[in-house]
Amino acid sequence: MIDFSGTVILVTGGSRGIGAATVKALIIAGGDVVLHYGSNRAAAESTAHASGEDHCHLVQADLNEPGAATALWQESCAWKGQVDVLVNNAGVFAPGPVDGPDAEWSENWQRTLQINLIATADLCRQAVNAWRKDDVGREGGSEGVRGVIVNVASRASWRGDGPEYWSYAASKGGMISLMKTIARAYAHDGILCYAVAPGFVETDMAIESFKHDPALRDVVVRDIPMGDIAPPSDVANTICFLASGLAPHATGATIDVNGASYVR
Ligand code: NAP
Repeated sequence: MIDFSGTVILVTGGSRGIGAATVKALIIAGGDVVLHYGSNRAAAESTAHASGEDHCHLVQADLNEPGAATALWQESCAWKGQVDVLVNNAGVFAPGPVDGPDAEWSENWQRTLQINLIATADLCRQAVNAWRKDDVGREGGSEGVRGVIVNVASRASWRGDGPEYWSYAASKGGMISLMKTIARAYAHDGILCYAVAPGFVETDMAIESFKHDPALRDVVVRDIPMGDIAPPSDVANTICFLASGLAPHATGATIDVNGASYVR
């Protein structure tokens, strides 16, 4: 039985999409959630309202700013004295055409890596350093588990992505390599690390990409044996299971949520 009572979870990008569904699922399971958002205060407030405001603490941080992730960790810990679970979910999916201007190419790589990968690494570093100092461990979780990290990667981590999304695929591949490294290095310290790799999920991110090419949605759905794009709740439920600490020996694993469109 998944029970997050007494557990504090930081969810980055909790304002919308997969992050918002995750916040809701974690609070239903008894958790206290630091709901991080970037620029969308109204969406963050609406998610908190729908999920249970008493168990939600809103923190703003633009993860494109170097150093913002570290400040976010510190502010998150200040709420209840610690953070037990870190869900690295915030992300951007922005095209960077190979034949575009140099400045746009460079800006796309810098921004995508900063938000998707470097901010994730900064938060993981803060979490690992805090948990390794923590002799007490978390209350209400699996015995011996001091902290859990879940990185929201992508099907693109394994499969690669479209020609305009080199930086996105590279950033998501990096999130899995980072996860494996942390899992191997700190399992003996009671620190667990996982990844979830969604295919297309019904959120603003996917809907925006279909706006550029309305025929793309049909092409995408035809490629999914399940016959539809995943609802955010499928990813949220997977994150909750991994974050629960109920399967410590699965540390280092990635769970695919892609309707069997890419079976490894
Ligand atoms: P979404 O609906 O576009 O939401 C993105 C979230 O990231 C928002 O909460 C947003 O916060 C936050 N964010 C974006 N830029 C930020 C910045 N500079 N600083 C801080 N926060 C920022 O996306 P989603 O579909 O839920 O995606 C969530 C994760 O799943 C991402 O890592 C994405 O790569 C991954 N994923 C999604 C799909 C898909 O098809 N949707 C597939 C595979 C993987 P604000 O709105 O407050 O700015």
